[in-house]
Amino acid sequence: TSKTKDKYQIAVVPGDGIGQEVMKATIDVLDSLDIDFEYVYGEAGDECLEKNGTALPDETLDIIRQSDACLFGAAGETAADVIVKIRQEMKMFANLRPVKAYPHTNSLSDEIDFMIVRENTEGMYIADEEKYTDEGAIARRIITREAERRIIDYAFKYAVENNKSKVTAVHKANVLKKTDGLFKEIFYEVAEDYPDIATEDFYVDATAMYLITQPESFEVIVTTNLFGDILSDEGAGLVGGLGLIPSANIGLDGALFEPVHGSAPDIAGKGIANPIAMMLSAVMMLRYLGENDAADKFDAAILKLLNDANTLTGDLGGNASTMDVAGEVIKNINGE
Ligand code: ATP
Ligand code: MG
Repeated sequence: TSKTKDKYQIAVVPGDGIGQEVMKATIDVLDSLDIDFEYVYGEAGDECLEKNGTALPDETLDIIRQSDACLFGAAGETAADVIVKIRQEMKMFANLRPVKAYPHTNSLSDEIDFMIVRENTEGMYIADEEKYTDEGAIARRIITREAERRIIDYAFKYAVENNKSKVTAVHKANVLKKTDGLFKEIFYEVAEDYPDIATEDFYVDATAMYLITQPESFEVIVTTNLFGDILSDEGAGLVGGLGLIPSANIGLDGALFEPVHGSAPDIAGKGIANPIAMMLSAVMMLRYLGENDAADKFDAAILKLLNDANTLTGDLGGNASTMDVAGEVIKNINGE
């Protein structure tokens, strides 16, 4: 597609704990693809705080800003600060969380495969809270035409580029008539620009139920900040937990791809972490860069490993190491 380039600069921020290990495994696989990447490494997280007095040095932010995309491993205690700061600095307006059933995971159904597109700059999470008195407090929920149009348009574009046929808007417009009323209105306005994509809209409470009763029916869900946060974790539960789930933060000035799991201090340093969530994050990065052939290859190699079930890490019931998984994925990519 039009986005592809001869050479990409990738900011690599492994961070803490197993972040380091799953990142190394993932970079090895990326190196086996036929694409020219230049990696620029940056520090962030707990260790970085101890060493440099800040969990997110300006230098790291600069590297992320200058790169075509960023791969992020994990940060420990400082995770929230680090990622929130990066999101703000890079104006990352979209959080993408795929919900997909893979073999050897405890999924509710084998047919689950949808994407949650969450607005990430406004809504209920702008931290505009006030404690008026000891008796009560108030939070504001901000919905603007500009931000909601941007996220909804992103969801439709995503559907087109990824061969999805339907986008579902999730809201609570029956109660939140002004804010979610506006969200719903914009959804159907934007939908007119995408006549080939089917549309539907559900209340968030009903959606929470439909995710359990008919998860196969969803393709792309677009929703506001708070609802997206909650439904994303419900989605993780649908497909057997956080272990294999990647995520993306898409911004105006760049994009960041990271596994949903954290630094997992309990298994860090042992070389046994499952690198697949990090690898699937790299697959999302390849699609973002427009490198769909490479993304398909990488994705298929991971799926083959899961189907073969000979090289699984402990969390999936095997005894392979992190680097065993990398080696096997590379073999699958090379068709060996
Ligand atoms: P953090 O504070 O960085 O979020 P955490 O203690 O919350 O760390 P998580 O990384 O969120 O740990 O993981 C929760 C549990 O899942 C841990 O027991 C961890 O070992 C396990 N886990 C997480 N990621 C992986 C992985 N990639 N491979 C294997 N096990 C994992
Ligand atoms: Mg955690």
